[in-house]
Amino acid sequence: MLDKISQTKTQLETELNSISSLIDLDNFRIKFLTRKGIIAELFEELKSISIEIKPHIGKVLNELRTFAQNEFEKKNLEFESVKNKSQKIDLTIPGKKNWTGTKHPLTQTLGEVKRIFSQMGFQIAQGPEIEDDYHNFEALNFPPNHPARDMQDTFFISEKILLRTHTSPVQIRIMEKQSPPIRVIIPGRVYRNEAISSRSYCLFHQVEGLYVDEKVSFSELKGTLVAFVKQFYGSNLKYKFRPSFFPFTEPSAEMDISCFLCNGKGCRVCKFSGWLEILGCGMVHPNIFKNINVDTEKYSGYAFGMGIERIAMLLYGVDDIRLFYENDVRFLKQF
Ligand SMILES: [Zn+2]
Repeated sequence: MLDKISQTKTQLETELNSISSLIDLDNFRIKFLTRKGIIAELFEELKSISIEIKPHIGKVLNELRTFAQNEFEKKNLEFESVKNKSQKIDLTIPGKKNWTGTKHPLTQTLGEVKRIFSQMGFQIAQGPEIEDDYHNFEALNFPPNHPARDMQDTFFISEKILLRTHTSPVQIRIMEKQSPPIRVIIPGRVYRNEAISSRSYCLFHQVEGLYVDEKVSFSELKGTLVAFVKQFYGSNLKYKFRPSFFPFTEPSAEMDISCFLCNGKGCRVCKFSGWLEILGCGMVHPNIFKNINVDTEKYSGYAFGMGIERIAMLLYGVDDIRLFYENDVRFLKQF
């Protein structure tokens, strides 16, 4: 029996030396240390040994088992430390920053405009960007050869089809389908055939507003716009309305606000006037109501429109409109 134990120890040592992987180590464990392993078998044999020599052999066998277990643990620890070294985490390496995307500054500006007008009861409407001459010009009181058409250099697709030059044709499309009361804002992309520069681009965004109901007055228009600019730019700013001309409104006006960049003292952005033009507006021209058979005895309305790029440029101090369309991350991530 002692010989057997001694042979087992020799075998065990040989196999220990040849362990080179975790798989080898596990095979070693199964072979020697499990309940059906070689050492367990020896303990089984010990039961039939005569009582006189049993304690001595039992002691030797116990030593063998302890030795095997210790050696197994040692090897196991070696493998663990190798594994940890290869996966070691260097805590001194600077972290990688994950950039979070943000909304485009035009989307943010438009979102704020929509939010304010929605609170005042305006619904949001949309219309086609490819328009016909009738909706873009004629129905809006620009007769053929009207000089006002020159104000808008147009991308014509064919003689009567074009890329809309403003969002106003959507006013006509809404009034054709829906009878008053109508209270909508119409955000959208518009196109002009202009030389591209820091101040103008071939496309931009407008928000148009239209309110048609019984007894709509110019003072309501003013009240609505003043409420808007105060929410949008802050309640301290000054404002003024100047008479203007648009073919589709009568009377027409433009709204200026005191320059919030220089507080009205005069700066490069406000061209040293202290005022910024921000929108055009007026009472819907009776000819437009006639074109779409709205009863002018009963109904009146107002309309206004503003350019989102201009508002965003003023708000964020952007000095080149082209930046909005270049998708340069260095620009976009500032918002
Ligand atoms: Zn200024």
